[in-house]
Amino acid sequence: MNDSPRYLITGGAGFIGANLVHHLAQHAPEARLTVVDKLTYAGNLDYLSDVMDRIQFIEADIADMPAMQDVFSSVQPTGVFHLAAESHVDRSISDPGEFIQSNVVGTFTLLECARQLWLAPESQLAGRFLHVSTDEVYGSLGAEGAFTEDTPYDPSSPYSASKAASDHLVRAYERTYGLDAVITNCSNNFGPYQYPEKLIPVIIRNIRDHKPLPVYGDGMNVRDWLFVEDHCSALKAVFDRGQKGRAYNVGTENEWTNIALVRLLCDLVDEQLGRPKTSQELISFVPDRPGHDRRYAIDASRIHDELGWSPQHPFEQAIRETVSWYLEHLGPLWDM
Ligand code: NAD
Repeated sequence: MNDSPRYLITGGAGFIGANLVHHLAQHAPEARLTVVDKLTYAGNLDYLSDVMDRIQFIEADIADMPAMQDVFSSVQPTGVFHLAAESHVDRSISDPGEFIQSNVVGTFTLLECARQLWLAPESQLAGRFLHVSTDEVYGSLGAEGAFTEDTPYDPSSPYSASKAASDHLVRAYERTYGLDAVITNCSNNFGPYQYPEKLIPVIIRNIRDHKPLPVYGDGMNVRDWLFVEDHCSALKAVFDRGQKGRAYNVGTENEWTNIALVRLLCDLVDEQLGRPKTSQELISFVPDRPGHDRRYAIDASRIHDELGWSPQHPFEQAIRETVSWYLEHLGPLWDM
């Protein structure tokens, strides 16, 4: 093994993971990149087609201990970017078991492999474990305020509970064994490669197809939207410079009610397709999601003040580019 950094990216064939692999290929040119992904419905190797010559891909389940021990022993990673997870809240309500398996057992399995590789008495290798988590672990906010890293955990859905459990395991490994681990908790991401079951790609597709635009409840739930490329630069900043054992919230103070966001997407898709601006008529309120958190908002002062990170992509431009990306790629990538 030579001295160049070796990064293992779990979930690298999913939405944020694929964006991160592209980001690291560009911004960490010295690093060897290995992607581990089970290729569930949300993972797609086509997302990585233009960086395939730059990475090693291993199809495997992060909850499979012998498989992960093989991966750690052959790759000898000096860093893990852990993103693999079941990620869709609605699916966690109808079928929570997979969320416990991948998000909790999977994270435990990776932590154990990292401990064996980096902390065994005979180990010659040091490494850092970056765990990518969500602001949903904090529960729901009222009309005011924002989550800080000290906000107590109060998850509402099986998804957020499984992420909270995995965050606790990461903290426990840092405190108990001294594992060099850092955690990020980010708000809702948008951008290329997101499977069209999540709000933004679903709405873009339905507007394009003149189909009803489902909006939960009264549409007044608030989310703090983060462009995925800004999220990737935050992940790299935390991996490179974050303080061991610390969590960093990632967000851009960009709050939108769901209904306002859907209206904006209607106007952007109509504009980009050169149609009259009539798609807002397709908005259709549907019964609310059980346990639906009302508002999320992120206080990102820590990552800003300690690590000097700030977002580089203005929302108006990023959402326009995202709309045109989906109009171009929905058919080729997902046959829809
Ligand atoms: P995604 O669902 O698009 O991708 C997840 C990837 O993980 C897929 O490629 C899937 O095949 C893989 N995967 C799932 N289970 C696996 C397993 N057992 N073994 C190996 N691979 C497995 O998710 P995403 O939106 O890219 O989210 C990535 C991470 O970021 C997740 O940990 C998620 O909790 C977190 N996060 C996402 C958001 C968001 O807005 N998308 C917000 C906050 C946090």
